Amino acid sequence: MTTAVDLVKKGYDVIIVEAGGRNLTGESQAQFAGEVVGDRYFDLSFARLRMFGGTSNHWGGYSIPLDRHDFETHPNFPDTGWPISSSDLDPYLDATCEILEIPNRFEDELITPSLRRTQFQFSTPVKFNFKYDEFCRSTDRLRVCLNSTLTGLSVKDGAIDRAIVKAADSAEFSIDAECFVLCAGAIENSRLLLWFNQQSEGRLVQNSRSLGRYWMEHPHANVGDFILEAGPEFFRDGHLGPQASFALTKEAQYNLGVLNAHLIVEEQAYATTKEWVADLLCIAPALGERLMGLLDKNLVCGARIRSLWEQEPRFENHVALDATKLDDVGIPHVELHWKKSEADRRTIVVTTNEFAREIAKSEVGRVRLPNWVADDGPIPPQKVMGSWHHMGGTRMSDSPDQGIVDRNLLVHGLRNLYLGGSSVFPSGGYANPTLTIVQLALRLGDEIDRMLS
Ligand SMILES: Cc1cc2nc3c(=O)[nH]c(=O)nc-3n(C[C@H](O)[C@H](O)[C@H](O)COP(=O)(O)OP(=O)(O)OC[C@H]3O[C@@H](n4cnc5c(N)ncnc54)[C@H](O)[C@@H]3O)c2cc1C
Repeated sequence: MTTAVDLVKKGYDVIIVEAGGRNLTGESQAQFAGEVVGDRYFDLSFARLRMFGGTSNHWGGYSIPLDRHDFETHPNFPDTGWPISSSDLDPYLDATCEILEIPNRFEDELITPSLRRTQFQFSTPVKFNFKYDEFCRSTDRLRVCLNSTLTGLSVKDGAIDRAIVKAADSAEFSIDAECFVLCAGAIENSRLLLWFNQQSEGRLVQNSRSLGRYWMEHPHANVGDFILEAGPEFFRDGHLGPQASFALTKEAQYNLGVLNAHLIVEEQAYATTKEWVADLLCIAPALGERLMGLLDKNLVCGARIRSLWEQEPRFENHVALDATKLDDVGIPHVELHWKKSEADRRTIVVTTNEFAREIAKSEVGRVRLPNWVADDGPIPPQKVMGSWHHMGGTRMSDSPDQGIVDRNLLVHGLRNLYLGGSSVFPSGGYANPTLTIVQLALRLGDEIDRMLS
């Protein structure tokens, strides 16, 4: 939607092909059904939305850019890093914040040599269908085909010559264009390309070694309780309630050999804090008594720490086709292979322990860690640990051996097929992906304009 609107504003004629309608329906969502092999994960038929405006219809609005070092290759993880740097996306940050209706303020603050306080912004959250509804209706340069599913891409002489689409009444039509952009989300981009590539006998993605591969999420879990001797000013940010967020510095992260992780500290109600201080009375009576005295003066807060963290990009985590089940237009369902690795486990255990140590040293408070974090144990298997953030599968790379699109989001080996969305992320940092998706979408608008003019 961002790229389409940008191109229309630049004077191009654009057609959006959208599989869903204006509203959410069970029938449409059922087309997104699929199996997950590996760790427990959300029901795929509801992990993204198949309707106009896509998943922006139920995103949470948490917005933060990737860290500068997320674009670099981590010394311990050779498959991380982007072919572009954050300075390639910086020029689009102001316009992205305008679209998401948030201030462009994301300064980190160094708290200790290894710990920084980070800053989220919270979109209302903007739903792209409502945001652009009036714009879509006000121009004939933009046509929206609802309830129309992309079912094929025809390749001729190294370029897409037409897109094949099935309408709700099963009528098939095709679209000729100078340029095509596939933005179906970071599961569907892989699923559709795998299927279309099979149909074209490999002429679409000529080097398909990494197609569907290196799929990533942001594992998400509660990682501790925090009693802190600080007033409410500690929780400067907040969306659903007062909160503050932290991450290790790049140097600490590299020294400890871990990926990036975000620790989000959320203030709890007085009654919960009192319970925790009462627990502390049994283990450390002197400290407990002192805190109990401060609690009634409002000088102690309790907070829960949850984290979403970077997952190691691994070839084994991938989107595949399940040929035994077809959707209504005959495309195989998705089979998502997803597992957290030892590096993923270590990242959160090491980061949270470092945070707890730094907090204790600075005498701001005390952190109580769950046993698996304190004892360097296995991640408990019983819960889904995801953030609904889908990334990878068609990663950006300079070489066709390493990814599917080049640094300008053009599919390697083709002249006019671009990909949009977080499927192109080669590594995911901890940042919620939408802000980066919009930055990339605006940059893509400029690239297509350059290519066509
Ligand atoms: C519950 C939840 C909370 C979230 N919270 C946050 C958050 O706080 N912050 C954040 O940054 N991110 C959040 N996200 C993630 C965010 O919503 C997504 O990363 C983002 O919306 C992806 O945008 P996209 O345009 O790439 O894909 P989508 O929004 O999924 O859009 C893809 C579109 O393609 C259409 N489509 C698919 N297949 C076809 C086809 N064959 N033919 C035609 N059309 C097709 C779909 O119908 C859809 O409209 C959240 C996600 C969920 C589910």
